[in-house]
Amino acid sequence: MASSFDVIVIGAGPGGYVAAIRCAQLGLNTACIDRQTQQRGDQKGRPSLGGTCLNVGCIPSKALLDSSEQYHNLIHQFPAHGISVDNAAMDVAKMQARKEQIVSGLTGGIAQLFKANKVTSVHGHGRVMQDNTVDVLDDSGQVIQTLSAREIILAPGSVPIELPDMPFDHEVIVDSTGALNFDQVPKRLGIIGAGVIGLELGSVWNRLGSEVVVLEALDDFLMIADQHIARVAKRQFAQQGLDIRLGAMVKKADLGAGGLRMSYTQKGKRNTIEVDRIVVAVGRRPATDGLLSPDCGVAADDRGFIEVDDQCKTGAPHIWAVGDAVRGPMLAHKSSEEGVAVAERIAGGTGHVDFNCVPWVIYTSPEIAWVGQTEQALQQQGIEIKTGSFPFAATGRARAMEQPIGLVKMIADAQTDRLLGVHMIGAHVSELIGECVLAMAYQSSSEDIARTIHAHPTLSEATHEAALAVDKRAIHKVN
Ligand code: FAD
Ligand code: NAD
Repeated sequence: MASSFDVIVIGAGPGGYVAAIRCAQLGLNTACIDRQTQQRGDQKGRPSLGGTCLNVGCIPSKALLDSSEQYHNLIHQFPAHGISVDNAAMDVAKMQARKEQIVSGLTGGIAQLFKANKVTSVHGHGRVMQDNTVDVLDDSGQVIQTLSAREIILAPGSVPIELPDMPFDHEVIVDSTGALNFDQVPKRLGIIGAGVIGLELGSVWNRLGSEVVVLEALDDFLMIADQHIARVAKRQFAQQGLDIRLGAMVKKADLGAGGLRMSYTQKGKRNTIEVDRIVVAVGRRPATDGLLSPDCGVAADDRGFIEVDDQCKTGAPHIWAVGDAVRGPMLAHKSSEEGVAVAERIAGGTGHVDFNCVPWVIYTSPEIAWVGQTEQALQQQGIEIKTGSFPFAATGRARAMEQPIGLVKMIADAQTDRLLGVHMIGAHVSELIGECVLAMAYQSSSEDIARTIHAHPTLSEATHEAALAVDKRAIHKVN
C-alpha cells in the first residue's frame, strides 16, 4: 500500500467518512484510518466503518426506537383503529438481530463506497506525529505503518462520559452502547441524565415494559429545547410512565441482594431506589486520547476538544478537525457538513456550514425537533420577537392518524419578521423540520411560509398555520 496521500482522515464516522468521500470526489488521493470493530453478532471483531453513528449511535438507537414503537402501538394505538391482537409479545433477541443486520448493512455500505471512490481504508489507531505524518497502531499499541499526507483531517468523534463514583462494569452499570444491547427487558431500569440519550433509550425500554426512573441533576427539564415544547414533552413522557426526577444528584450505586441501590439527593433530601440496571447518559467527551503526539502542534482544551477556528483549522498548518471532537453540537449531520466543507476548502473551494441552521431531533414519541434559537435564549439577548403556534389536534391529518398530540411554534423577529427559530413536538416532526431548516437557510420570513401552499391534509399544515399565527391570522384556530 502507498504510504503517501493527498489527504489522511482519522476516524470514519459521519465526519470522517463523508470528508474522505468528498475529498476523493474532488480528485484527492485519500486514506481513512479507523480503529472501530463490529461490536456484536456474527461479524463481531471485524473492522466496521461508520463511527459511533452507524455502529452504536443514531442507527441502532433508531432501529430499537422503531421496533419498540411498533410494539407499543400494537397494544396502545391499534385498538382505536378497531384492530385488536391477543397475546402480543416482543422477541428481544429478534429485535436485536434486526438491529444488528441494519448496522452491518450500513457499515458494509461505507466500505463499498470507499472502494467505489478509491478511498484507501486503513484499520488501526491513528496518531498524529510531526511533519504531517500519522502512525497507525494495532490493538497492542505497536506501530504497524507510518503514513504521510499533504493535509490531515481529524474526526475522532466522542465517547460516553463515565461518572467517577460509578464506573461502567458493562453488565449492570452501562453506557449507551450497553443500553442498546440488553438481551432482555430489565424489570427496573435507572437512567442517569434526562438528555437526548436518556430520553430515547429510556423510551425504548419503557415501551417494552421496564419501570424506568430517570434522574436528572438540573432543576429544569430539557434546557436545550424551547421550554414551551419541553413542558409538553415532560407531560407526555410522564403519561407514558417515564418517571423523570429533576434536581436529582446521584451519589453512588451499590450492588445488594435486591439489586442496585442508587442513592441520590433531591431538594436536600436523601433518597434511595433499587433498580436492576443503570444506564449512565450524562454526556459525551471527545475521543482524543492517544490521538495527538506532543510535538504535532495541534492543541486540545482541558476537556479534550480539539481547538479549531470557524473554518475547522487547527493551530497546526494543514491539519483540520471536524465533528464531535470540536466545538458545537454533537450531531451526525453537523459532523458531516463540517467534513464536506473541509474537503472543499482543501480542494481550493469555499466550504460553508451555517451553524444557525443545524436542526435537532429527539426521536421520542412524540418526536421533538427544532432549528434556530429558543424563545428563552432570544429573551436573554433582549431580541424583540413575535411567535405563532398551532396544535396538531387542529389538523385533519393528525386526527386521522390518531396522533393529535403536540404543536408547531414559530418565532420571528418582531421588526423584520425574519425567522429566528421553529420548534415542534408531534408525530413525524423529524421530517417536518426540514422545510423550516431550508426556510431559515434562505433567511425567510414567517410570511414566506404563510404564503407557501401546503398540501391538504398533511401534518405540514401545522407549520403553515403556525406561520399564519405569527401574524394572528391562523384559519383553523382562534387567534
Ligand atoms: P464518531 O461517529 O464518533 O466517529 C469517530 C470514529 O473515529 C469512530 O469510529 C472511532 O472509533 C474512530 N477513532 C477515534 N479516534 C481514532 C484514532 N485515533 N484512530 C482511528 N480511529 C479513531 N446524532 C444525530 O445527529 N442523530 C441521532 O439520532 C443520534 N443518535 C445518537 C444515539 C446514540 C446512542 C449516540 C451515542 C449518539 C447519537 N448521535 C446522534 C450522535 C452522533 O452519533 C455523533 O454526533 C456522530 O457520530 C459524530 O460523528 P463523528 O464523525 O464526529 O464521530
Ligand atoms: P446530553 O448532554 O444530551 O444530556 C446529559 C444530561 O445528563 C443533561 O441533562 C445533564 O444535565 C445530565 N447530567 C449530567 N451529569 C449528571 C449527573 N451526575 N447526574 C444526573 N444528571 C446528570 O448527553 P447524552 O444524552 O449523553 O447525549 C450525548 C450527546 O449525543 C447529545 O448531546 C447529542 O449531541 C448526541 N445525541 C444526539 C441524539 C439525537 O440527535 N437524536 C441522540 C442521542 C445522542
